[in-house]
Amino acid sequence: MSELPPCPKCNSTYTYEDGGLLMCPECGNEWSADAASGSDEPVYKDANGAVLVDGDTVTVIKDLKLKGSSQVLKVGTKVKNIRLVEGDHNIDCKIDGFGAMKLKSEFVKKI
Ligand SMILES: [Zn+2]
Repeated sequence: MSELPPCPKCNSTYTYEDGGLLMCPECGNEWSADAASGSDEPVYKDANGAVLVDGDTVTVIKDLKLKGSSQVLKVGTKVKNIRLVEGDHNIDCKIDGFGAMKLKSEFVKKI
């Protein structure tokens, strides 16, 4: 659990959480924890923990068997111009010889 942020109104550090809202006992302020955390943009990281962004080029770090086919995406395959999407397979991409597919960011490395 991360520490709760201080009250944005009076800067009190005695804030507490109640039903998804953050409350300040000193000035009575209530606010949403989601808004307080700044941004709800998801962050996608590669196998090394590097942050991935749309348009990055990555390589595949292990052989990946493609669902519904006998093809294998070999380790070291370069994937250009990735697009990040929400979900289990969070990289949308197109690979020469394979076509459009989805990959997991944990199986790639940014180059
Ligand atoms: Zn306050």
